[in-house]
Amino acid sequence: MQLKLFHKGFNYSQDGTGNRLVYHLQGCNLSCPWCANPEGMDAEGPDTFTMTIEEMCEEIVRCKPMFFDGGGVTFTGGEATCQFIALKEILTRLKRIGISTALETNGTSSKLPELFPVLDELIMDYKHYDSKIHKKIMGLGNDVIKENLGKAFVEHPKLLVRIPLIGKVNASECDIEQFIAFFNQYHFFNARFELLCYHEYGKAKWTKCGKEYIVQDAFVPEKTRVNYENKMRMCGFNIVRT
Ligand code: SF4
Repeated sequence: MQLKLFHKGFNYSQDGTGNRLVYHLQGCNLSCPWCANPEGMDAEGPDTFTMTIEEMCEEIVRCKPMFFDGGGVTFTGGEATCQFIALKEILTRLKRIGISTALETNGTSSKLPELFPVLDELIMDYKHYDSKIHKKIMGLGNDVIKENLGKAFVEHPKLLVRIPLIGKVNASECDIEQFIAFFNQYHFFNARFELLCYHEYGKAKWTKCGKEYIVQDAFVPEKTRVNYENKMRMCGFNIVRT
């Protein structure tokens, strides 16, 4: 069984606890116009390579001494659940040999809860509360994401929910009220939340990939993020910055 990837490397604390080996799996089922990794969006990209599950396990075991400060392995993308069967297999094997596992996901896979038992950390994006707008901008509605979030709030012990703040898309005062109203339907005591400001780190790569970058004027001032963080804290949210 093989996994298709477009990048791998170590990262400290931004993709889960401690120092982690991060595998970026090729392909995504959303089409966020601000995506920082456009080379990973299509099923095949300019940097695509493959690894068998065995090769990956061997590499991970060799890297064990590097997993300090509670580190381990994180799968991200693209959208890692687009290769669900192989992803589940590698996560199961890693769990069996005691490696800390994490997944960064857009939350669109209806099978995501099947992975909860083999995931020490779950990092889920929640980009828009309105399904119609979600579909218009990213190509899919958010019904499955909401369902998965609801389950994760109840079932997953270590959940981080990330909201990328994108100007003119989801970053007005009214948007934040709507996000809070959505989360307030749940008991989210085990979850941490992080607000991320729009950036253009991936912009140059869009042209390289032959894709058009259409986002304009989407920067969100740092003071706006701080305001929203404070507002959420006052409503009982555990706000973090990774
Ligand atoms: S879900 Fe993530 S990887 Fe997929 S298009 Fe959106 S930002 Fe890019």
